[in-house]
Amino acid sequence: MSETGRLIEETGLVPKKSRGQNFLTDGATADRQIAYAGISESDRILEVGPGFGALTERLVRESDHVTCIELDEKLADYVSNKFGNDITMVRGDALKIEWPEFDVFVSNLPYSVSTPIIFKLLEKNFRHAVIMVQKEFAERMTAKPGTDQYSRLTVGVYYRSVCKMLETVPASRFNPRPKVDSAVVSLTPRPAPFRVDDEKLYFRITETCFTHRRKKIGTALKNAHIIEKDADLPHLDDRIEVLSPEEIAELSNLIGALRSSP
Ligand code: SAM
Repeated sequence: MSETGRLIEETGLVPKKSRGQNFLTDGATADRQIAYAGISESDRILEVGPGFGALTERLVRESDHVTCIELDEKLADYVSNKFGNDITMVRGDALKIEWPEFDVFVSNLPYSVSTPIIFKLLEKNFRHAVIMVQKEFAERMTAKPGTDQYSRLTVGVYYRSVCKMLETVPASRFNPRPKVDSAVVSLTPRPAPFRVDDEKLYFRITETCFTHRRKKIGTALKNAHIIEKDADLPHLDDRIEVLSPEEIAELSNLIGALRSSP
């Protein structure tokens, strides 16, 4: 029986899909994730979902300031007992609780909540993140305009960071084995490389248009009462998937200017 299989049996855990409980069994992949993170000893590290500690055991070797947030009581108990004072364990739902300040985020994310966790992460002030997500999700994070994968997630990620796909990880490297492959991505925050006059409007336009991605931009924005029926603006006959984040910003700035003109 594998080490993870043994731990599942020992703790009596019944892995839940709803909690994204697929545990990494490949030490070499975990080693590379830690190397990508480029941690220095004084860095404050945050890990969401330590599980049985595949990443945690490597993180504590790199830094004295490791905080883990774990929702599952059995896993939180296991990791607390194993690492003792080497970590700070925060029990609870990473979506609901306040995160401590951190410099580096390293996490094999529960796939069920990857999107809200990434959006929460992007609100924070940190230096670097190395994250495992579903491969298809990683492709959406790094997609180019004009592709099927290009989405609201792509625009949100690009607005706040440089995102790179580092490697793909086959489903066979997890227990229980998920249905799909995974990928490791890095996120390095930076200010948006273009001007946005009204951030709230930019994201509202992005969300509205991607929710109706097959509709023309003009139709989606008029239906949502973001622009008037007779508005004269560029791109209204296009679909959102062909517009780069910069072009969405230009459109958003024009709409903002129209709205504030008497
Ligand atoms: N880091 C471990 C590994 O690589 O093997 C486990 C990763 S597993 C994909 C996801 C982990 O996140 C599980 O331990 C699960 O219990 C935990 N989890 C799921 N939803 C959570 C949430 N909302 N907040 C905190 N932890 C969560």
